[in-house]
Amino acid sequence: MAEMRPPIESGAPDPMPFMHPVMVKNYGKWSFHSHPKPGVLYHRAESGDEIWTVKAGTARQMDHYTIHELADIADQYGDGFVRFTARSNIEYMVADGAKVEPLIKALNDKGYPIGGTANSVSMIAHTQGFLHCDIPATDASGVVKALMDELYDDFIKCEMPNRVKLSTSCCEINCGGQADIAIIVQHTKPPKINHDLVANVCERPSVVARCPVAAIRPALVNGKPSLEVDEKKCICCGACFPPCPPMQINDPEHSKMAIWVGGKNSNARSKPTFHKLVAAGLPNNAPRWPEVAEVVKKILYTYKEDGKPWERMIDWIDRIGWPAFFEKTGLPFTKYHIDNWRGGRANLNASAHIRF
Ligand code: SF4
Ligand code: SF4
Repeated sequence: MAEMRPPIESGAPDPMPFMHPVMVKNYGKWSFHSHPKPGVLYHRAESGDEIWTVKAGTARQMDHYTIHELADIADQYGDGFVRFTARSNIEYMVADGAKVEPLIKALNDKGYPIGGTANSVSMIAHTQGFLHCDIPATDASGVVKALMDELYDDFIKCEMPNRVKLSTSCCEINCGGQADIAIIVQHTKPPKINHDLVANVCERPSVVARCPVAAIRPALVNGKPSLEVDEKKCICCGACFPPCPPMQINDPEHSKMAIWVGGKNSNARSKPTFHKLVAAGLPNNAPRWPEVAEVVKKILYTYKEDGKPWERMIDWIDRIGWPAFFEKTGLPFTKYHIDNWRGGRANLNASAHIRF
């Protein structure tokens, strides 16, 4: 194992000292790669060196006993080198193909699934949730765990038409990103203002400036400086809550879950796309979110059945059309699915051009 590194206050650490020696030696000089089986990648370098990568699913929020367990497996069955992926998986690199199967067995025996590569359902992109963030309306870890339990077989097998990326967002405005299927919190009521706290906690001009539809105005309430919301204008986005927690928008009853589909960042085969809303108003039903899981599985298995090889979710929808998407998945189509805000054409950045 590499030596402990001193903490670095800013920026990403230099990865080279922690990289597998075969990867350091052949950095940027790879000639070929393949996918021998779900969860395993093979790379061959121009020098003839070979390396296998075994990808295992983890729970992301892990105690140090689990980290030790994973590290012990790396020392005993791998070459002592691992990396964590952006989607909270752990990858073991080995330079000897004979180590792959014993490594997989050791991971499986401890309950870690092997998969998430090629045309499988990859691990859900995990937002921070209650553990690290101060504005979530639901927990990200819980939704991810509950859903990946349901999609276990789709993680360890490569049976989807193409890669399927899922994401969570525990508020409506920040992390999460574009995904084939995205699970996003949906506030359905304007914020309720705790006027006693506003003057002590918030900078009123920054809260007013935050609102994308100019629904917030400074106001005097009971002789004290506070804020008011024009509820007709408010789109319940929750953007005022982070700079001003007294704008209370999280609500166990009225903060719901919504499902969006067809987003992707990749520009392979077709251009990157924004995902679109397909199901709204699902209950935020911890700890297993069964209603959300049901809709996600309905969409996923309809795509699996109907998609052609190499079609990403949005390619499939583009081919069959949105009316057929709603017919085939059985999801109700409501007025909330029609985006008739004409200003979006000018204001939302929907191209790869950088505008100043
Ligand atoms: S999605 Fe929103 S609530 Fe969740 S971690 Fe990101 S900023 Fe916080
Ligand atoms: S929830 Fe969004 S739209 Fe409503 S007042 Fe706050 S920032 Fe404005």
